Amino acid sequence: MLKANHPFVRRFKEHALEERQRALESSSLRTRDEHFASERWWLKLAESYDFSTRLDRLLDVSVPRHPACPVCVAPMRLVEIQSFSGRLECLFECRFCEEKVLFTQIDH
Ligand SMILES: [Zn+2]
Repeated sequence: MLKANHPFVRRFKEHALEERQRALESSSLRTRDEHFASERWWLKLAESYDFSTRLDRLLDVSVPRHPACPVCVAPMRLVEIQSFSGRLECLFECRFCEEKVLFTQIDH
């Protein structure tokens, strides 16, 4: 896990917090829904930004961009990325023999 959030992520989360505050303070149901929707949007943005920052780090540091296929040694390509709670999985596939390799990164 990142020790400190990226400044952008922090800012997005602050916006989300402001929207939540506004939602809680608003008297009309419609305005409140709009602020809550806005909050979700900021949080989603923060989450996806945080994820792509982590992904960049991960790909730079621990996962080769095109690992060699263990079967035919051809360069493999990244076909799937999944993020679970604190865990990132990158699935690579060989374009020649269709061998698949899974790299897992666990954040501590
Ligand atoms: Zn292969």
